Amino acid sequence: MTNEVWWRLGCFFSILVIMMLLEWRQPARQSPIKSSTRWFANFGLVFASSIIARLVVPLGLTAVALYNHEHSIGLFNQLAIPSIVTIVLSLVLLDILIYWQHRLFHKVPLLWRLHRVHHADAHVDTSTGLRFHPIEIVLSILIKLIAVTALGVPAIAVLIFEIALNALALFNHANIRLPNAIEKPLRLILMTQILHRIHHSKVVSETNSNYGFSVIWWDKLFGSYKSEAKKVDAEIDIGLVEYPTAKQNASLWGLLIMPFKNK
Ligand SMILES: [Zn+2]
Repeated sequence: MTNEVWWRLGCFFSILVIMMLLEWRQPARQSPIKSSTRWFANFGLVFASSIIARLVVPLGLTAVALYNHEHSIGLFNQLAIPSIVTIVLSLVLLDILIYWQHRLFHKVPLLWRLHRVHHADAHVDTSTGLRFHPIEIVLSILIKLIAVTALGVPAIAVLIFEIALNALALFNHANIRLPNAIEKPLRLILMTQILHRIHHSKVVSETNSNYGFSVIWWDKLFGSYKSEAKKVDAEIDIGLVEYPTAKQNASLWGLLIMPFKNK
């Protein structure tokens, strides 16, 4: 756990660079706005969110998990089950929680105000995977904090989960189209780029599908899986009908105040 920061940053930057290189070599779609404009806003938002996250939980969720373990707080810290079982169970339960959290952010109007910052992006690329309003990030941390404490999730599981979630968000938002030979078998388990672009469609029934960031199982299980959009992947209208102009969708300030403005 002492190298936690290096593990996080190492995985984050490696995946980010690989995805951006793939997008540069073989983009699936063309951005309607200049990439540098979108990137300034999207990466600016990540920067703001990271600082605020550190203020909310200064030592991170793994520190909370370690504290819980030392003080026998939470379900798994009360039971004598092998650690591999608690780790696997924790990963599955946290992933289901994030699925439902995502669905809730679509369903509840007040939460949708925050989450639409993510969906208003007129183009989807790996930077979109990081574009979340700081208040959504804070709420997400608090939800995870409660789950980690109630379940007594081991610190190593928290670390694996957070690294994997971040890596998979970068992966499935990437503006790439994997070759059929890879995409077809992969989509039997994972949320691929093509599947996740359906979630970014302007068609509401498509936006409200494919909520999973990692595996497709929860969408299948809870009835929100969509294998195809009305249009083919290259022609899906990305974004939100309420935000047709690129301007407001690509300024950092515009994104920060977006939840507070009526649409
Ligand atoms: Zn969403």
